[in-house]
Parts: sequence; structure tokens; C-alpha cells
Amino acid sequence: MGKDYDAVIIGAGPGGYAAGIKCARNGLKTAVIERDKPGGTCLNYGCIPSKALLGSAEFIIKARHAHLMGLDVSFGEPNWGKIQSRKDAIVKSFTSGVEGLLRSNGAELIRDDAVAEGRGSVRLKNSGELLTCKHIILASGSEPKEIPSIPFDGEKVISSKEALSLSEIPKSLVIIGGGVIGCEMGCLYAALGCKATIIEALPRLLPREDDWMGRLLEKEFRKINLKALTDVKVSSADTSGDLCRLNLSSGEMLESEKVLVAVGRSPVISEETAEALSLEFNGGEVVIDEKMRTSAEGVYALGDLAGKTYLAHGAYLEAEILADILAGKDGKIKDYRLVPRAVYSFPEAAGVGLSEKEAQDRGIDYSVTKSGFLANGRSLAHNQTAGEVRVIKNNADGRIIGVSMVGDSATEMISSARLIMGTNEKAGEVSFPHPTVSEVLKEAWMGAYGESIHLPPKR
Ligand code: NAD
Repeated sequence: MGKDYDAVIIGAGPGGYAAGIKCARNGLKTAVIERDKPGGTCLNYGCIPSKALLGSAEFIIKARHAHLMGLDVSFGEPNWGKIQSRKDAIVKSFTSGVEGLLRSNGAELIRDDAVAEGRGSVRLKNSGELLTCKHIILASGSEPKEIPSIPFDGEKVISSKEALSLSEIPKSLVIIGGGVIGCEMGCLYAALGCKATIIEALPRLLPREDDWMGRLLEKEFRKINLKALTDVKVSSADTSGDLCRLNLSSGEMLESEKVLVAVGRSPVISEETAEALSLEFNGGEVVIDEKMRTSAEGVYALGDLAGKTYLAHGAYLEAEILADILAGKDGKIKDYRLVPRAVYSFPEAAGVGLSEKEAQDRGIDYSVTKSGFLANGRSLAHNQTAGEVRVIKNNADGRIIGVSMVGDSATEMISSARLIMGTNEKAGEVSFPHPTVSEVLKEAWMGAYGESIHLPPKR
């Protein structure tokens, strides 16, 4: 007989490790099983390494504008080896941090490949050990979606995982997909001097956000030599030569050293586990309710596997709430649209709550107020004047139902925007420090109530 636990968690990505820490903190005997590196896609092959690389790339963009800041200096070529080592060191410090956090909170981290054999029983494939438990939490994540006609080969046709660890900066790169990864990786490689082109099947970049955001990004991307072709698909591809050749639905032909396919992600779960637990799926995603319960009793799922947000912080939220539920407390996910969306492109983009299109589709009587970065003192001081913030208000009750933004610090400001969601607090009575970029948000928020000092009055 193997060990018995209160909670066994399969997968140590953001959802799994956060659930592990909090379950253990809540007094549950907890094991987290991971077959790869602790930290999952986010820490090892996603959020953290990409932001480390983008941090270097942002320096390049800023350095190019040094003359506008009164600095007569010239800068050399990016040292890709050093940029990569810096990124690897950041990733390493975080993955060992996760192991330490699990241990110090009393959760056991088991390095093995786990398969659920039925309710309350999980087999470790390598050691052969059987673990029994009250609750199973499935947090096995997702993997990049493949386009069948252009399969990944890890060399010329790559996913975001390989794109973060290339041995050299490619001279040319075509990115299929103008979503979050396409925009971030496009900015990274364009800043590094690569001839990068994004191909998006829908009429604009970031098609899940409001039109203006994708269009503004497209315009700003041109300034860093990142080209975006929208409303275009790949009709055929030949990747057998030195250069990949892509024929597009527009009639154009593109050649590039590498093709990055970024058309979304698919949940990962072993067939054995899915069958043993008779899990219900919606497409590839495990169906869960607002308490993360799957169709199998005593089995929960969260993070990318359940596909509600495909965001690390969406998984954190689910993990924290679920750990409390398993400890006997009350809790549920209230509204996934309140999980902020953040894109670390140049400039950044972010949103929380409803988009204007969603407000329209729901028949809400709403109004939109805009505020631009060009009128913000701190943005001018930093020479970061592109973009705007839009605040959507429900006219029926005066509550804020959505905020979207493109511009400097958008990924930071969206947390403040989250806090004004659902409020009808008098914006004028809330003080924001001056001068800060965040005043762009404040002006749009005040404008929603006709109170903005610096926006022209609405007629
Ligand atoms: P995505 O869903 O954001 O974007 C995929 C894009 O590809 C869509 O715009 C879609 O219209 C387009 N597309 C699909 N098929 C196509 C085709 N055949 N030709 C051209 N375009 C096509 O997915 P992603 O960018 O791959 O990212 C995967 C997931 O990871 C997303 O859910 C994303 O939110 C998450 N992620 C988040 C962050 C972040 O929060 N900053 C960063 C990276 C990834």
C-alpha cells in the first residue's frame, strides 16, 4: 500500500504548485507530481523567459531613441548569448524557488509521471507506486497547437517554446497567429533586428479584444519594423529548402529562415487518466463548474487543462479558491472576464472586464470614455506617448464594466483597472500620484462620470 494524501495534484505549473502550497497551508496532506521541471510552461517555456527576453529587447528600442532624450551615444549589436544566459538564470532562480516554496509550506513534490487510475488513486509511472487520496486535482496544462499542413519540426517550424531558446537570432521570421504570443514574439525579434512578419487569419491583431487595440498595435509595430498581415491565411508551405516558403491567401509569397506557429494552445491530459475517470470534455478542455469540479466525483481541474483563461494568473486564481473549497471553506469563481488580460508587446496592451463588443452583444446601454498618453506628463517625459485607455460604463447603474488600454505600463495599470471594475465610486475622490502614467487611467475613469479635469467636456 502506497502513501495516502488529502490532495494529490498532477502538474506543478502555476495552477498546480499554487494549489499545492495553499492546500498544504490549509492543513491538507498534499503531494504535487511533476514529470518535467517545476513551474510548468509559465516559468520554464512561457511567461518568465519571454519577459526576460522582452526586457532586453525593450532596452534596444529605448536605446534607439536615446538621441531624443538628449543622449549622443551609439549602441552596439545585441549579444544573444548573454541575453539568453540572463534569461536562463532568471528561469533557474524561479524554478528552484517553486521547489523551495512547496517544501517550506509542507507540500511534497514528487518527480514522476502520474496517471489517475480511478477516484482517489494515482499511479506513479516510473516508480510504480500507488498514491491514494481524497481529492485529485488535474493541472497538467497545455501545449502549442499545431497546423497539420505545417507540422512542428523544432528547427525551421517552431513553437513558442523553441522561439525562446534559439541558438542564433534568425535573419527572418514569419509568425503565424497575431494573438498574444504572435505580438510578443514579433516585438522581441523585430527589436533584435530580425525581419519579422505576423500573419493573422482574422481582420486584426488580438482579435479577441476591441478593434481599436489591434489596429493601433499594427500601426505602432510598423515603427519597430514589425509587419503584420491581417485577414490572411497560409494556403501552402514548403519548408524543405534552406528557407521556408509560405504562399498566402492574398497571393503573396513569403520566405523566412524560421516559421513560428502561434495559433493557440491545446490542453494536455493522458488518455489513461481521461478514460479511468470518465471525464467530460468540451473540445480538448476538461469541463469544470464554478468550483472547479469535473464530471468525476472527487476530481477537480484547473488552469489551461480546463481552458477558461489560458493565463497563469487565471490558474492562480482557480488554485487559491479551490484550495479553500477543499479545506471546507466557501468559494467559487465569480466571473472569468474579471481576470485581466495583458500583452507585453511594444507598446503593451491590456484589458479587463467586458470589451465594447461584448457590452454591445449583451444589449447593455453603455458609454465609453477615452484618455490618451500624449496628454500625460510622465508619458511625455519618458517619450512613451503612443496609445490610450478606454473605460466602459454601464449607463443603467453607473458601474464600470470594462477597461482596455494600449500604451506604456498597460500591463501594470490593468491591476488598478481591475480594482475599479463594478464600482461607481466617485473617481474624483480617489487620488492617483502626479505625475504618473496611471493618470491616463484616472482621466478616462473620471471622464466616465463627466468629472475629468484634463479631458474636454462631453457635449
Ligand atoms: P491566441 O489565441 O492568443 O492567438 C492565436 C491567433 O492565431 C488568433 O488571433 C487566431 O485568429 C490566429 N490564427 C489561428 N489559426 C490561424 C491560421 N491558420 N493562420 C493565421 N492565424 C491563425 O494564442 P497564442 O498567441 O498562441 O497564445 C496561446 C495562449 O497562451 C493564449 O491563450 C494566450 O492568452 C496565452 N499566453 C498569454 C500570454 C500573456 O498573458 N501575456 C503570453 C503568451 C501566451
